[in-house]
Amino acid sequence: MAAKVHGQQAACSTITSLEKEGNATFSRPATAMSGEMDKPLISRRLVDSDGSLTEVPNKAPKVGILGSGDFARSLATRLVSSGFSVVVGSRNPKRTAGLFPSTAQVTFQEEAVSSPQVIFVAVFREHYSSLCCLGDQLAGKILVDVSNPTEKEHLQNHQSNAEYLASLFPACTVVKAFNVISAWALQSGPRDGNRQVLICSDQLEAKHTISEMARTMGFTPLDMGSLASAREIEAIPLRLFPSWKVPILLALGLFVCFYAYNFIRDVLHPYVRKHENKFYKMPLSVVNTTLPCVAYVMLSLVYLPGVLAAALQLRRGTKYQRFPDWLDHWLQHRKQIGLLSFFFGMLHALYSFCLPLRRSHRYDLVNLAVKQVLDNKTRLWVEEEVWRMEIYLSMGVLALGTLALLAVTSLPSIANSLNWKEFSFVQCQVTRPQAPGATITAEKNHYKFYLPPTFTLTLLLPCVIILAKGLFLLPCLRRRLTKIRRGWEKDGAVKFMLPADHVRGEKTSHV
Ligand code: NAP
Repeated sequence: MAAKVHGQQAACSTITSLEKEGNATFSRPATAMSGEMDKPLISRRLVDSDGSLTEVPNKAPKVGILGSGDFARSLATRLVSSGFSVVVGSRNPKRTAGLFPSTAQVTFQEEAVSSPQVIFVAVFREHYSSLCCLGDQLAGKILVDVSNPTEKEHLQNHQSNAEYLASLFPACTVVKAFNVISAWALQSGPRDGNRQVLICSDQLEAKHTISEMARTMGFTPLDMGSLASAREIEAIPLRLFPSWKVPILLALGLFVCFYAYNFIRDVLHPYVRKHENKFYKMPLSVVNTTLPCVAYVMLSLVYLPGVLAAALQLRRGTKYQRFPDWLDHWLQHRKQIGLLSFFFGMLHALYSFCLPLRRSHRYDLVNLAVKQVLDNKTRLWVEEEVWRMEIYLSMGVLALGTLALLAVTSLPSIANSLNWKEFSFVQCQVTRPQAPGATITAEKNHYKFYLPPTFTLTLLLPCVIILAKGLFLLPCLRRRLTKIRRGWEKDGAVKFMLPADHVRGEKTSHV
């Protein structure tokens, strides 16, 4: 049995080359492959229907791998664990054999590609041309392109790596697959990391073969169409949070603006007017005052595009006209903006917990106590301030809790378990009223340098949105908006009768 023969070969203490049916096959010392890489993640034994254990049949489909780098090693381990017979083609098999699982056969490239029908090309694009000498042996076989370009290569080459490989080997069928799976994910198994394998090829049968292989290895194949999609698939690992760029820049911009505003009011103003040194407030206190402002404005920006879209639909009298690009993008980024709002809210909560730990806070308390004694006052209790702070904290906790709800329900796994009505109920009804409430009682109306308090400024946008939402609740506007969202058009292209339960129509709107 081939697997057992290889196992015995692995027990040899030095690298030995074996002549087997005329093929030079290199094995490795037993110690070299001890550890994780050598351990099949799926047992070579299968459980029969009667519960007894049987060996995996040795007529396992043979798969070839060209290249002996990180990806090839992890791929070989996973293929062997999944019951495939693996033959690796290397330019120097003697040097690399010790790095592969004992059951994988490591040999020269020409020999490795002779018998398998499926061959993984685990080498970089710039080395594809060095494989051209294998053209005759590779004719009629499936080549799996796993390569990823660098950002520079992706911009420079208009032809994808897979299409380039196909142009070098016109007698082969090229399938693009597994490039979105890292060597680490392959080695540790699909339970840890991305499970989806995006696959594309011009040949349906080849695509089906590789999809089945991916499934056997524990991954989820996703058909991406013809080989022309390869460029798109190759761009995926190059992405760095593309949908987060604008929301993050927006949040940072808001943070800088509000920080500067608070700095002028809380640090610069006392310094200029009373020569008080309050610069120590910059790292913590000013940051903490800034965070909720950003959180509230960001939360308002989640709801504002919906209001603008509704106003635009009312003005146009139709829903069949595209929104301007900026509004379209804004609508698509609402989830990220909402999550960032939650992030800033969380930071504010953490910073607030740290406030009493500051030295300045302790000195302030002691100074206040001393002042009390000197002024001969026994009890300091300002009823109004006590109430203001109690309500402020309570509303703040409620606002953070509802923001957390909004964030949790926007996670794909949770959102998938909710129907649209449940989702929009949590996103629109539960979270909406909490936002402005927390700040109403927060600060006295002190103008410094003629600048209004930050929280007054922060409340402007939520108030405008609540006002607009209130306007849309007016029967005349609500009926018209409902009709438009059900397909009615001002110029009469669609004849429309509002059903009796028109409220239902309103709730299915996606804006
Ligand atoms: P690597 O460690 O540098 O291995 C590349 C292998 O290519 C070498 O070990 C070498 O094996 C072989 N090769 C064949 N012809 C060559 C030549 N003319 N010059 C130099 N080397 C040649 O790279 P890797 O990380 O395994 O990546 C291999 C491919 O997988 C790349 O296309 C990469 O984009 C893709 N990939 C990698 C990962 C990952 O996590 N590493 C993830 C997805 C995709 P021999 O010396 O034995 O011939």
